[in-house]
Amino acid sequence: MQEVIPGIFQLSRWWDQADLGSNVYLIDAGGELALVDAGFKGKELLIVERVRDLGYSASRIASIIITHHHTDHTGGLAGLLEITGARVIAHAADAAYIDGRLPQPGPSRPRWLSRAARPFQHLLATRPVKVDIEVADGDELPLAGGIRILHAPGHTPGSICILLRRNGVVFTGDLLAQRFGLKWPSIPFTVDVEQLRRSVKKLAGHEFESACFGHGSPIKVDAGRRIRRFAGLSSSARE
Ligand SMILES: [Zn+2]
Ligand SMILES: [Zn+2]
Repeated sequence: MQEVIPGIFQLSRWWDQADLGSNVYLIDAGGELALVDAGFKGKELLIVERVRDLGYSASRIASIIITHHHTDHTGGLAGLLEITGARVIAHAADAAYIDGRLPQPGPSRPRWLSRAARPFQHLLATRPVKVDIEVADGDELPLAGGIRILHAPGHTPGSICILLRRNGVVFTGDLLAQRFGLKWPSIPFTVDVEQLRRSVKKLAGHEFESACFGHGSPIKVDAGRRIRRFAGLSSSARE
């Protein structure tokens, strides 16, 4: 675990988010607590234990914001709701996967992998959970000190980035990853690669200092400039 900036904690081990499936973050904005993403199925008790290790009661978690519907980000959601009673916030375009109206899709490409994975798709199934607040691009929510939703489709139709403007932090979900430099997310599990590229450019148009990723370690300073460079929007193309 690490405190990325004051009040924002990465609950997964800082060198390896794989122990929770995806990164899971805790936001303490002084009042109610919020989580970003919920990790894999079966990780909920470990998540709660780490929240307690930080000195917080899990019952203070009032919101769980889901960056996108993939099971490494939503598998622990049903269990976490039983413990916390939190409300679930996700983009409308991913809500049907989270609440079970649509099955979890397998990999989109290459075609052979997508075909080969089909018989095993049920293994991805998670307990369906109702999305309490379906959000859209530009929505501002008065939680965690004030967040702004940025719709960033491509990886999934309803992928979002979450901007905490007061702290200059963005949670990118799987729009980007960060392991020894910025990386694209898993391409086999990305629905529309061109749309993903457009969404990275869209994010790069916003101001922020720190970035927290769905996979990998955070960038604490100068994240906006580095993402602009990654997106090819500044003179130095190397990243
Ligand atoms: Zn992921
Ligand atoms: Zn994903």
